[in-house]
Amino acid sequence: MGRYRFGEAVKKATHHRTPRCTRQRCGKAELSAGLCRSHLIDACDAIARADALSRHPVCVRCGSTRTLQWSHHLSRRFMSIRWAPMNATVHCAACHKLLTEHPALHTEHILDLIGVENYDRLLDSAYGPRDEHSGVRTGPPQFKHADIVAWHETLSGGTA
Ligand SMILES: [Zn+2]
Ligand SMILES: [Zn+2]
Repeated sequence: MGRYRFGEAVKKATHHRTPRCTRQRCGKAELSAGLCRSHLIDACDAIARADALSRHPVCVRCGSTRTLQWSHHLSRRFMSIRWAPMNATVHCAACHKLLTEHPALHTEHILDLIGVENYDRLLDSAYGPRDEHSGVRTGPPQFKHADIVAWHETLSGGTA
């Protein structure tokens, strides 16, 4: 019992020293702007999604104004381009699903939208630049905590 209480006291003291995430019931260590890493990512997603929807009031494939969704040319798993306007567009739920299920159709669609040079640039950011001789891409760049902070500052500055 005594040991347990002592442990709790140490935990509480540490808890107060380190700035914590301000989102309700989160309590993880703050990364920036009062938010932990995952809530900072959520915040960037929300800004980038709203930005895409304001630039594209209709589905860029079929023109529908219903069930509009933030849609990525290359997956948002690629953190280096997750919030890049170049990598974002808007699709209705039906087109989004269709394109996700048919990668070749999706690629053709992306090329129609942004052209081969911009598509290549996105591939560079996602998979790393091509090796001069083999043409093999060298692998995705490292994505650090500081990169999320920088993106958040850029995104929130742009809409402030
Ligand atoms: Zn949090
Ligand atoms: Zn559509």
